[in-house]
Amino acid sequence: MSNGIVSVTIDIEDWYHIPSVSGSSFSKYKDTEDFFSKWDGRFDYLTEPTMHILDMLDELSIQATFFIVAEIVNRYPGLVKAIDAKGHEIACHGYDHRCYIDNKTRMPLHTKKFFLNQMKLAKELLKMETSQSIRGFRAPAGYVAGWMLDVIESLGFTYDSSVSSNSLYNKTDSHLRKVKRTPYYPRKGELEQGPPRRLIELPFPYLKLGPIRIPSAGGPFLRFFGSRFILAGINQTLREGPALLYFHPLDISSARFPQSFSKQRPFYWSIKGEVIEKRIRWILTKLDSKFVTMRDLERYSKRRLSTEKLPLT
Ligand SMILES: [Zn+2]
Repeated sequence: MSNGIVSVTIDIEDWYHIPSVSGSSFSKYKDTEDFFSKWDGRFDYLTEPTMHILDMLDELSIQATFFIVAEIVNRYPGLVKAIDAKGHEIACHGYDHRCYIDNKTRMPLHTKKFFLNQMKLAKELLKMETSQSIRGFRAPAGYVAGWMLDVIESLGFTYDSSVSSNSLYNKTDSHLRKVKRTPYYPRKGELEQGPPRRLIELPFPYLKLGPIRIPSAGGPFLRFFGSRFILAGINQTLREGPALLYFHPLDISSARFPQSFSKQRPFYWSIKGEVIEKRIRWILTKLDSKFVTMRDLERYSKRRLSTEKLPLT
């Protein structure tokens, strides 16, 4: 019997989308529009490793979910269609990857209306390019607030996958004290556990070492802590429910990215390239799990929660 259900998720963004380069209160460029008005060098470091990941997923027979920064549809013609053509799920990772809450205060950086309009546009762009219904959202850089989930739910999104409850950091506007590492319904207006609603949260796994909870979904932690650590966190999470793994095409790229970023924040790609691809492959072969898209994980989780006794909140 396989060891639970795991979704492989890939965030499709380029080097200039990260918060130290654009779209945050500490970025070098205000947003990607500002970046493109000033940048005249090579910008596409994304297409090549994305195509490589598509081959890898084919080889491993895995159907994954791609959280895509929607403006990529226009800036990288054909890339989103290539992902869609392989049968993977297309989900939304914002319009231009800008952050909507401040990294320190967690107060909104933009109005609710602006966020709604951007998400509406993002969803339409992705839907038109792929003819898939777009159900999933992941907040750019993981900065998420309860009000953001209410907005995306009103636009027809049925799951979010941004919450990481752990002992090292909290990028949300909630304390997340009762939030676990398996799917749950967030209370309206916040991210704490609440009664069932249309939108479900599919959070990131963590590794519990005594009282410490260390994020272990992949991404930067796959680069810093290595594959055994990530595998242990996913396996521990699987004892409680479904889990997910995430990474970026940039993580496996061996190209040297331009060094154009805010001095207030380090550029965090010190370990990347082939070594990270090896780690991802190792984890995927070691996990004795059934791999499903997030759309299927959403359905499975909603069914599972409807048969469980709901927590008193
Ligand atoms: Zn991202």
